Amino acid sequence: MSTASSHRTDVTAIEPQRKNPSMCQHQPPCPTADSADREAALLAASHPEQGWSLLCNGVLLFEDTGELLPDGRIIAPHRPLGTDRVMTAA
Ligand SMILES: [Zn+2]
Repeated sequence: MSTASSHRTDVTAIEPQRKNPSMCQHQPPCPTADSADREAALLAASHPEQGWSLLCNGVLLFEDTGELLPDGRIIAPHRPLGTDRVMTAA
């Protein structure tokens, strides 16, 4: 059985590319990785062909909406694919 943490991406290959979260120089500053708003941080790197993006705050965001926090915590995918743009009824 596979779990939420069984991403195909080899995280160890990504590690060296992760930046120190304190390097954020945006104004206003991006939400920290501890913030509930962490996904609102700006993209620092995007590798859609590999299925992940790196946010400015050091959070790795996977295409299935799973996340890997800078402190090693894993956030399970929480949004179904394909419903990123939810149509709001006028
Ligand atoms: Zn930033």
